[in-house]
Amino acid sequence: MTRRLTRTLGKSLALRSLVVIVALAVGLSLAALPRLERYFLTQAAAREEATLRLATESLRGALSRTEVLPGLLAERPILARILRDPDNQGLVPYANEQLRQTSLTLDVADIWVMDTEGLTIAASNYRRETSFVGRRFDYRPYFTQALSEGRGRFHALGTTSGQRGYYFAAPILDGTEIVGVVAVKILLDAFETTWRDSPNTIVVTDPANVIFLSDRVDWHFSSLGPLPEAALDTIADTRQYPLDQLRLLQTEREALVPGHDLLRVRGADGVEEFVTNTGLIAAAGWRVSVLTPTRPALIQARQTLALVVLLLLFAGLVAVLFLQRRARLVERLEQQRQHREQLERRVAERTADLNAANTQLVQEVEERKVTERRLRQTQSELVQAGKLAALGQMSAALSHEFNQPLAAVKAYAENAATFLDRDRTEDARKNIGLISQMADRMASISKHLRNFARRPQDKIGPIPLLAVLDDALELMAPKLKAAGAELHYTRPEAELEVMGGRVRLQQVLVNLLSNALDAMERLDAPQIEITVLTEGSRRRVEVRDRGPGLTEETLAHLFDPFFTTKSPGKGLGLGLSISYNIVRDFGGTLAARNHPEGGAVFSVDLAASDARTSSEAVAAQ
Ligand code: ADP
Repeated sequence: MTRRLTRTLGKSLALRSLVVIVALAVGLSLAALPRLERYFLTQAAAREEATLRLATESLRGALSRTEVLPGLLAERPILARILRDPDNQGLVPYANEQLRQTSLTLDVADIWVMDTEGLTIAASNYRRETSFVGRRFDYRPYFTQALSEGRGRFHALGTTSGQRGYYFAAPILDGTEIVGVVAVKILLDAFETTWRDSPNTIVVTDPANVIFLSDRVDWHFSSLGPLPEAALDTIADTRQYPLDQLRLLQTEREALVPGHDLLRVRGADGVEEFVTNTGLIAAAGWRVSVLTPTRPALIQARQTLALVVLLLLFAGLVAVLFLQRRARLVERLEQQRQHREQLERRVAERTADLNAANTQLVQEVEERKVTERRLRQTQSELVQAGKLAALGQMSAALSHEFNQPLAAVKAYAENAATFLDRDRTEDARKNIGLISQMADRMASISKHLRNFARRPQDKIGPIPLLAVLDDALELMAPKLKAAGAELHYTRPEAELEVMGGRVRLQQVLVNLLSNALDAMERLDAPQIEITVLTEGSRRRVEVRDRGPGLTEETLAHLFDPFFTTKSPGKGLGLGLSISYNIVRDFGGTLAARNHPEGGAVFSVDLAASDARTSSEAVAAQ
């Protein structure tokens, strides 16, 4: 949940940064475009500075070269002579031809000579249809200026030739008297042809702002501003331009940087926009402008801007991606840290649990040890109690057993005394022998009782199994006899050594035998079978009776302390429980089962003593 939230936040953050970057890029481009355009336009204009210089210089050169010609030509004596004698049919043609030759040599359009009235006397173009000879040019300023100021210059559309030209004129003197004027005209079309090769437009405007020269033919005689009435009058008077061709060009001018303007020209085909480079030809009163179309510069500006914006966007995108990756990395590291912490916390918790469990276990073990110690103590006490109980049970039978032989001993003794009185020595000896037998028997019984009542030494060691069994049977003999029980026991020849305690094992066997007798209480012919078996390192004694056997309930609780089915006073329910623990102490097992042919079978399984050394046996305590 937190992770998804963080990721969504991260995503929206990235999206927001992207939007901001795009907005920035757009804003930047909008803000930067005019400046960039201005820069590229200025650059474009600067590049055309050379074009302007070339145009002005070549024009200026052409004009200044021609400017001196009329003065030089005026000094030719023939000119003054024909002016003095205009009707001289010998001189005038000669002068005409001379002028033609000169015009060809100097590469000028026309050279002609006028009298003081402006009438052409001789001209280089005398051969052509458009010959100036006989024509009057007194309305042209170059004529009047030449007369009044000593030199004249003018530009106009030729009224005769219909060609645009620049006129220079100088007075012809005869002595100190002005007798006429010589004029030279040059054509400027060649410049326009040259200009046409460049992508720029070059315009030459006069002081009245009328375009006189331009590689754009359609702009000829167009004015860049409205013409004042006076200017129009002058044009009409001097017939400088054909009035019907004069028209106003729709333009707008805007300052770009000092020296360069933006010029928009509205024409039939739409608006054309240029950046201007302007120079002056002061002598002619001309303004030369190189008009560079703004389109390439604007395109270049936009392309540059687009490139910059793209680069910015790319850089922004890279930055966003980088930041996003970084954020993701940080997030992942954070997750790993949290995970690690969680893991460590869990480990700590588990360790704490384990420690607690361990402490509890140690405590339990301790408690168990205490309980076990207590149990052993109780058990030991119970063994003792059980023995005493058994002793109590047996004491009745024993007192009966002792009373009988004692009565017999008494009778035999009395008889022996009587036989001695009667000197029947043999009979007396026989009776004394019987008394001795009885005493032996009673001594034997008492010995066992002493053994049984004494608290056993807790030692475990090799003991003779068959001898212990003999003792037990001997101890039980009176009871067996009293019950009329039949004993089936095939005693093995060789003694079998087992690990255990002699008195305690005897106690176990006595208990098993008395239980067997108790189980067959109601039988007329009780039978007990004793089998001694050898299985590897184990030795087993099995006691089988012919009683009712063991019920499931009895089997389940057989070895529990105080479990008894016998009537109160008769059984304590301790015998088997004590026996079980005794056998277990010996490293053996006490088990009970039902015989398939009826009756219960109790088996005592013990370790053969040759399997263990006595020292181990001591240690096993
Ligand atoms: P107690 O003899 O004092 O009752 P034990 O521990 O010796 O105590 O025996 C417990 C019980 O086991 C007896 O009360 C009896 O029900 C049962 N039991 C023991 N030996 C036999 C046997 N050979 N046959 C049938 N039941 C037996």
